Amino acid sequence: MEIDCPYCNNEPSDSRDHIFPSFLGGSQTAQIGKKCNNKFGHFFEAKVFLNFIPFMIFLRIHRVPAPKYVIWKDAIIHDGKSYNIDSNLVATPYKPEVTKDFKGRIINTFGSRSFQKGIINFFKKNNVKYDVVDKSILNFKIPEFKFTFQLDRNIRMLCVKMCVGLLRYLAPDKELFSYKKIDDYEVLYDFRYHNEVEELKVPLSHLIVVESNKKKKSCYGIVQFYGILQFYIDLSDRYFGDDFCFIGSLDPLTLTEDFKNSENRFHISPANRIVHAPNHESFEHLLSQRMNIETKNRFGEDLIKSIELGFSDKV
Ligand SMILES: [Zn+2]
Repeated sequence: MEIDCPYCNNEPSDSRDHIFPSFLGGSQTAQIGKKCNNKFGHFFEAKVFLNFIPFMIFLRIHRVPAPKYVIWKDAIIHDGKSYNIDSNLVATPYKPEVTKDFKGRIINTFGSRSFQKGIINFFKKNNVKYDVVDKSILNFKIPEFKFTFQLDRNIRMLCVKMCVGLLRYLAPDKELFSYKKIDDYEVLYDFRYHNEVEELKVPLSHLIVVESNKKKKSCYGIVQFYGILQFYIDLSDRYFGDDFCFIGSLDPLTLTEDFKNSENRFHISPANRIVHAPNHESFEHLLSQRMNIETKNRFGEDLIKSIELGFSDKV
């Protein structure tokens, strides 16, 4: 049966979209419309990815690999100069340096991988003898990271997309309820610790739970990133079908994905709207606490003492 794209209801679902975004290491896909798929990639997914990079490097230092090569630009200051850090934990100058001899010929360079590549190509093309020194700071002191994590509408739309992706994947022939436009859903940051949900997954996993409640005519989702950031998504208040509970998880250490129709019922009540935008201090504290729980449960030891981050909640 051909069903329409769940976001616009105006095109066939003829395109495959990752359920867990590929920047988190996801590989399984679900059917949605091509136009929406292309639009979402530029519209918010790329922005969430950029926002996640400092967080990924931070986790990389604490043994959680980044699924693909990433560079955090302008991340640290060392001897008065600004450096990028990549997911191999190599620091290179934010602004590449070029040393020239007295005749003005370049004798060496010091910069990022892509900068070195560009210089070498230029030399080859122009038949210039070259000496490119790939000096990277390999053993930089792990700084007190400071970064801004944006809990904005981009990450909220991604949460909706992950829930809809899971529904489409596990119930491909069903319209479970009438979908809304992707930015019309209410998505709330959820600080609560749901014990039953935590038991579903390996610590530090990404998680999607979508459950319906026939009695309350509701359908909602819980989305977690690294088991640390958690969101509550109000998917429908006009649900009339049978009760179901779908679960999807992705382990960032092994990149194993698991999707299932579960017998469990969680009946989680909506997250509190009032704590929608907590103050920085309490948010940092809660985030550190969750990171410690997740890393302790996974590696058996406390790894993260504290995390210093700014956070913005721009709509
Ligand atoms: Zn569409």
